[in-house]
Amino acid sequence: MKLLMMGPPGAGKGTQAKKIVGDYHLSNISTGEMFRDSYRKKESLGLLAMEFIRDGHLVSDEITIEIVRRRLFESNKEKNFLLDGFPRTIFQAEALADMLDVMQSSLDAVIQIVVSDDVILTRMVGRRSCSICGATYHLDFKPPKVENVCDSCGGVLYQREDDKRESVKNRLDIYKIKTQPLIEYYKSRGLLYEVDGEKSFEGVYQEIKAVLEGLA
Ligand code: ADP
Ligand code: ADP
Ligand code: ZN
Repeated sequence: MKLLMMGPPGAGKGTQAKKIVGDYHLSNISTGEMFRDSYRKKESLGLLAMEFIRDGHLVSDEITIEIVRRRLFESNKEKNFLLDGFPRTIFQAEALADMLDVMQSSLDAVIQIVVSDDVILTRMVGRRSCSICGATYHLDFKPPKVENVCDSCGGVLYQREDDKRESVKNRLDIYKIKTQPLIEYYKSRGLLYEVDGEKSFEGVYQEIKAVLEGLA
């Protein structure tokens, strides 16, 4: 199965993606996570990408497509995957379609998590991320058992630079201009499934599961 998880920043893509990949044995490919990993390792790719990410801009299509291409083709093992946060532009979507053609494959579904701007803001501003494993928490909606400590690995939690209020607005504007057109793009191809992202963690998860069960 090949899936895309789409939605505005802070919609809950990463949270749901982590659960879905476990249940369906998919490889989780998150471009945001890949950039942050690379930054933590002080690789030149990550250091360059963070210059854009920090202020809420997109990383260039060229760089982003290349890291996805490498991941999909590196060992030819990525037959079942969930892409989280890619594509974010029509150009990236076309590049993905070309890659899938080469793999003689295609997408099964695109899940769009729908949330209003108000919800996005409270989710992003309260988000805390683990500095070691990347797990996410929320100050109000999903606090860790011990303040500022990751439940699963003990890492220190931090607030992403781009989750601070100034960058959040930028990210939302950019989402609307560059990424939102993908909704029509996938709708017209009969691949789009919208789920109500304002439900509880479990409520959203159940909606996504219902979509996936319907595909089988
Ligand atoms: P969120 O989960 O809040 O939507 P991500 O972790 O997916 O954020 O991405 C964080 C940042 O990484 C984005 O704001 C952008 O700067 C960069 N990024 C991630 N994926 C892409 C992409 N497909 N194209 C361009 N930039 C990207
Ligand atoms: P995205 O990957 O789309 O940027 P995340 O999965 O990181 O979004 O979620 C953003 C923030 O909102 C996190 O702090 C997360 O704990 C919280 N969150 C995610 N889904 C829900 C939900 N259904 N209800 C309340 N908070 C949520
Ligand atoms: Zn952790």
